[in-house]
Formats: sequence, structure tokens, C-alpha cells
Amino acid sequence: MVHSASWLKGRPLCQLSAWAPSGIQHKGEQGRPDPCPQPESAGPVSARKIRRLLSFQRYLHSSRVCRGVTPQNPLHFLDHDYTGQAKCMLEKVGSWNFDIFIFDRLTNGNSLINLTFHLFNHYGLIELFQLDMVKLRRFLVMVQEDYHRQNPYHNAVHAADVTQAMYCYLQEPKLSKSLTSCDILLGLLAAATHDLDHPGVNQPFLIKTNHYLAALYQNTSVLENHHWRSAVGLLRESRLFSHLPSEDGLNMERQLGSLILATDISRQNEYLSKFREHLDKEDLLLGNAGHRHFILQMALKCADICNPCRPWELSKQWSEKVTEEFFHQGDIEKKHKLEVSPLCDSQTNSVGKIQIDFMTYVVEPLFAEWARFSDTRLSQTMLGYLGLNKAGWSGMLQEQAGAAEETDLGAPSPTPSSAEETDSKVLPQGSKES
Ligand SMILES: [Zn+2]
Repeated sequence: MVHSASWLKGRPLCQLSAWAPSGIQHKGEQGRPDPCPQPESAGPVSARKIRRLLSFQRYLHSSRVCRGVTPQNPLHFLDHDYTGQAKCMLEKVGSWNFDIFIFDRLTNGNSLINLTFHLFNHYGLIELFQLDMVKLRRFLVMVQEDYHRQNPYHNAVHAADVTQAMYCYLQEPKLSKSLTSCDILLGLLAAATHDLDHPGVNQPFLIKTNHYLAALYQNTSVLENHHWRSAVGLLRESRLFSHLPSEDGLNMERQLGSLILATDISRQNEYLSKFREHLDKEDLLLGNAGHRHFILQMALKCADICNPCRPWELSKQWSEKVTEEFFHQGDIEKKHKLEVSPLCDSQTNSVGKIQIDFMTYVVEPLFAEWARFSDTRLSQTMLGYLGLNKAGWSGMLQEQAGAAEETDLGAPSPTPSSAEETDSKVLPQGSKES
């Protein structure tokens, strides 16, 4: 359903602000050809461009192209069947069961571009903000390219998944009644860019390896600051908002930052306490721009960690992917004799254990409050899946423990020292089960 223009008309554009971000400046570049190769590409890359300050991902991509290495892609073309099926799926983009993995395959790895473009169209944002379609397309292509394809979890499919979840939340009655077109634009943009150029390792890793980003952002929300500044860089490079008054553009960038910075999981309690306080006092007024912005922050936080609230088949895939990324970091830490970060040691963790703790201490508290705020069928569905998925992982852990016990009973009991030895031999490096 396309929203009628009537509810959008007369909505205020973003509040003006004199604040200017001090992020990385990407100069505008004219004359890039329209994207057409698959997966979509932002265009040919010159040696001059490589010398510019690029994201990690585009630097790698650029140097590969310059060396004549064509990007690997399992599907070389899409026929009309695939495109038709992808379009068909978009008709149900508001469904909580939306399978982003299938959608990504049907769009030949272009789920983020296609989904975000569809939602911009759906809300009439292109007309409302008088966006240039070519600039928008180019911007979305660059956003998708700046996600690292090789990251098992923090890649463009995760960004597309978060954007789809964000759309589901924007459709919730309390939000859809009160959000302005500017709120919607920012919510979708923040979801699509919230992990831009994620290196596949966490902040403690960047700090202990003296990464320049850790120094640049003084060890505070290092990744989130980088995602935001990267998004600002692409907005400026694509000149998507260059036709808007400069103060509006700067205000958009600031609000985008405030949304992306809220996804820093280490600040979870801060946001959750504030949310709880508002709900206890029943003082959230969505006519108030500040309160609407806070709700967008909470919605983005929910969208970012909603994997355990999806149906089991989807949720399980995400759990395995995020664990693979953690263990990969752990393997690098071991290789370089660094202290292995919590959750990253494949010998002492497993997918199920990580998930149960994550659900209990992070996801459940957040979604319980969200359900208090938005007591709808969707909220109940999410809590329902959360409970089922937790029970699923617990059942699997119990089965594994039972099987291990049976094996122990069948074998001669080892002495403590030989038991330790056996454990370390049985469990290979990178094993997901422990
Ligand atoms: Zn994320």
C-alpha cells in the first residue's frame, strides 16, 4: 500500500540546526555511469580515486578492479523469473516472516538496494523530498558496496534485514500515526547504513590492535562513529541532499548519527532505563519531535537485534552467522597471541550458549519494554518466537549434554589430567560445539 500524499502534506521538514559534523569529507564526483553490472557496481574506478580516503571495503574493491580481478559472483545474470519473484516478495515486505536470504538470492545479492529503493518509493519519499532517482540509486549502490561481502554476519544482507524490520516497526499504529516523512526517511536511512563498512571485528579488537579508528574516536563507540561518518561521506559524495537547504542537510546528518550511535550495544542499559522511565511515567508524547526521535532510536535498536525474535529457520541462520564471525575474530586473536575476546573462543562457546545468554540479558529486556510501548500482534509474535527459539537452543544444549554424558558413561573414566588432554584434542580449532 502506498501512503496517500494527504497525511504527508504539510508535515514539517527536519528541524534546522547550525551543527556541522566533522566527519570525513567525500568530494562529489560527476559523470559516473549508471550501475548495470551484477551485482550492481558504483562504476569504474580510477587510480585517482584510490588515493582518496575510501572505506576499507571500497579500497579493497578498487584495488582489485585496478589489478584486473573481476569480483566473484555465483550468478551471472538474472532472468525475468527471478526478478518477478523478487517483486512478488516485495508485496509482502511488511510480513515478519519475510525471508531476506531468499530475497537476496532472487535479487542476485542486491537485497539492500532493492529493498530500500522499494520502501522509498512506497512512502513517496522520492517525490516528497524531490530526490534525484539517479543519485538515490548511486547512493544505495555505494552503501551496499561498502558492506563487506566476506563478513559472515555484518554484511549488506544484515543491513537489508534490519531495514525490513525497521519498516515493520514504522508500520505499527503508534508510529505510523505520528511519524513525519522526515522521521521515516531518517529511520530507513539509518537502518540501511547502521553497520556501514563494518570490519567484522568488535571495538575491543580495534582498541587492542591500535587501529587508527580507535584513536580517531577515542575508544568510544568506535564502530558506530565510523558507520555514521561513512554514511555521511556517501550522502555527500552522491549529493543526494545537495538540493536541500544546507542547514537541513546538516541536521539530517546529525540525526542520522544520533540514530546510528544508539545501536552501540555497550550503551544498551542507558537507553533501556530511559525507555522504562518514560513508560512508567506514561509521558511519551509523539507530537514532540524529541520523543519521536527517541522512539526511532529504540525501534532501530530493536531492528538491529531482532534475529532471536524471527521464526526459527531464519533466526537459526543468523545465530550461526554471528557466531562464525565471533569465532573468526577469536582465531585471529589466537594466531597473533592476543587475549581472546569473550564469546570469540570456539573451544569454550557454542552457538546455543551464546544465543541463550544474548536472549536472556539483552534481547528479552528490550523487547519486553517495546511490547509495553507498542502492545500489538507484532510485539506478541516477536516475544512468542523469542520464547520458542530460546527453548529450541536449550533443548539442543540438553541433547548435546545428554549425548556427552552417555559417551562418558560408556568410556573408562579418565583421570583429571587426561580428561583435560582429551578435551583439547577432541575439540578442533574452530569447532562450533563445545
Ligand atoms: Zn547491525
